[in-house]
This record gives sequence, structure tokens and C-alpha cells, in this order.
Amino acid sequence: MTLASPPVAHIAVIGAGIAGLACAQALTDAGLAVTLFDKARGPGGRMSSRHRPDAVVDLGAQAFTARDPAFIAALDTWRHAGCAAGWPDSAWRAGPGGWQRIHDGRERFCGAPRMSAITRYLADQVEQAGAALHPATRIRAIDGAPGALRLQSEQGDIFGPYTQVVIAVPPPQAEPLVQPWDNVLGERCRHLAQRACWAGWAIFDAPLPTPQGVDANWQQAHAEHPALRLVSRNQRKPGRDRQPESVTLLAHSDWSEAHLEDAPAQVADVLLDALATLFSGQPLPALVEHGAHRWRYSQPADGGAFRPENGFIIGAAGLALCGDSLRGGRVEDAWLSGHRLGQRLGQGLTGCD
Ligand SMILES: Cc1cc2nc3c(=O)[nH]c(=O)nc-3n(C[C@H](O)[C@H](O)[C@H](O)COP(=O)(O)OP(=O)(O)OC[C@H]3O[C@@H](n4cnc5c(N)ncnc54)[C@H](O)[C@@H]3O)c2cc1C
Repeated sequence: MTLASPPVAHIAVIGAGIAGLACAQALTDAGLAVTLFDKARGPGGRMSSRHRPDAVVDLGAQAFTARDPAFIAALDTWRHAGCAAGWPDSAWRAGPGGWQRIHDGRERFCGAPRMSAITRYLADQVEQAGAALHPATRIRAIDGAPGALRLQSEQGDIFGPYTQVVIAVPPPQAEPLVQPWDNVLGERCRHLAQRACWAGWAIFDAPLPTPQGVDANWQQAHAEHPALRLVSRNQRKPGRDRQPESVTLLAHSDWSEAHLEDAPAQVADVLLDALATLFSGQPLPALVEHGAHRWRYSQPADGGAFRPENGFIIGAAGLALCGDSLRGGRVEDAWLSGHRLGQRLGQGLTGCD
């Protein structure tokens, strides 16, 4: 008689934003088999960038900070690989009283030559380590049994079995996946609400005007405007000096939620008009193209009381949750949440510290 060998650990990760990729990297580092799924055409999630014929515009996070030593070490690797760099170093507050330079003493970073270069780099690393990535695959349900979980895609494909499923998507999108399996995880997801954000973008045929007293290479402006919150000049980001002037225009959460169902073209016009008000009558250059992207789940609402201390949750039925919402709402939080969950699962499934 032969004894049945124990099932080989194989982990599915739903969501290839920075949290899912950091988790996958920690799992492959521990020698585990990993398969990633993302509903989008490529990895990146809220760090994604839009490619237009003339320019690349970042649609989500524009820049991020680094505080935790583990994240600083990862960032050093990305900078060394050339996919991240310091930016911005010329940030301003722009309002009816004029423009004032912001000096908060904190260094910030972005992807180079686009924000999604960081998540592309991480995806390449995990694929080289043997993980499989299925883009354009929205997971609609989890079935099977604990220890042998299967994933159903929207297209009707079945993947698995998996010993563990990591869900690295915003909580409102995680909730329908976990609720049939784990009430406790479902309840957590319901309490971790997300704010919306409209992200406008525009490409011009010449540089934007320089307000009086402002450095011509200004990179970011925090706008005092009822709709517009932040202006980022993509062409002033590292590695993009050959592209024409382009801006990303982030709206306030309150305004975005009040206009959530507006047509993107209408939102793009409002944000462009708001941009024009920052230059006290100096005209904007001619527009080449503009548009707007709606983030229904952009950053967490204050869910502090429902966040686990370690920044991730391992549930009872073989499901685990990670992502920015579980920790704080920033790129660094997302990476740390995924990285630490991956390390914990790696220790549990391989028995190695
Ligand atoms: C407009 C905006 C501005 C921001 N500004 C900043 C900032 O200034 N500083 C900062 O640090 N952070 C900022 N952030 C937040 C930062 O982008 C996020 O914290 C971080 O990118 C979240 O990463 P994540 O991996 O947790 O989630 P995500 O990046 O959202 O990744 C989740 C992934 O899951 C996929 N997915 C969802 N459902 C499914 C499904 N059913 N099946 C398969 N795939 C699925 C999605 O396509 C997505 O790729 C901003 C975000 C936005 C949108």
C-alpha cells in the first residue's frame, strides 16, 4: 500500500496591484507555487498608467512616501532597477491668494518612466520566479472545499485547486467573493468603505503657463478649488521629458461622489475648466486630447477601527485578505500588507521562518 502524499501548496492571488504582487513575491521567495489573476489587461491596479499616442499619463497614485525600513529596502531595489525615482521636488499650493511653495521636508517617489513601471517590474520578477499571471480574468466566485479551493472566472473558466486564496482587491470587491465562505471576513469588508475619485487627464501642444513667482518647472499643484484637488505634470516626471505637456487632474472625494454617474467627457471638461482658473487669466495651451477615469474605490474612508493590527487577515476557510485598506490607504501600506501576508503564509505553509 502506498501512502498518499500531502497536497502541494499552491496559492492563488486575486488582484495584481502592488499588494497582490508583493504577496506573490514573498510567496515565491518562500518557494511556493503562485498563480495571480487580475481583471485588467495588465498588472498595476491603482498604480496604473494610460498610454496615449503622444504621452503616458498616470491615472491613480501620483507619488508616494516611504517610512518603513522593509518598504525603503524594496524601493531601493526599484530605484536601482530604474523603475522608481524621487518626485516631486517642486510642489505648490494654488488658490485665489496665489501660489505658495510647499516644503514639508518629506521625500516622495514615483514610477519611472510611468507609475505602472513598478508593478510591471514586480510582475516580471514573480513570473521569472515561476508564478503564472492571468490578466483580463475577473474572478467571480470561489468554490471547492477548504484546502482544495477553485476559482471561477467571469468567462466561465475554472482554475485550481488551491490550498490558499489571497484576495488583494478593494474590500467592496472582495466582499462578494469571501461572504459565502467566511462571515467574519465578509463583515470586515463591509466596514472598510472606499472613497471615489475622478481622475481627469489632458495633453497639450505646448507647456502650461508659469504663474508669477513660480518656478517654470513646477511639478505638482494642490489646488484650492471645489472640484479640483491635485494637478500633476506627467511630462515633468522622471523619464518623460520627450513627451508633450500632459497633466493628471485629481478631483476631491466629495465632489467625485456627488458626480459619480456623470459622463467622463463632462467631468473632463469641468476639471479642465478648474485647471484654467489657477493661472489668473493666462490662457491654457491648445488641447490635443483629454478624458477622465472614474475610480469607484480610490482610497479607504476612515476605517481605522476595523483595520487589523498586522495589516492583513487570515480567515478560517483558506482565504486571506490584504491590500491598502487593511493598513492605511497608501502605496506603502498596500505593499507592506501584501508583503507581510506573503511572509506569514510562506512560514505557515513551508514550516520555515
Ligand atoms: C486617484 C488616486 C490617488 C492616490 N494617491 C495616492 C498618493 O498620493 N499616495 C499614496 O501612497 N497612495 C495613493 N493612492 C493609493 C494607492 O494607489 C493604493 O493604496 C495602492 O495602489 C493600492 O494597491 P492594492 O494592491 O491594495 O489595490 P489595487 O491597486 O486596487 O489592486 C487591486 C487589483 O485587483 C484587481 N481586481 C479587483 N477585483 C478583481 C476580481 N474580482 N478578479 C480579478 N482581479 C480583480 C484590480 O483590477 C486591481 O488591479 C491613490 C489612489 C488613487 C486611485
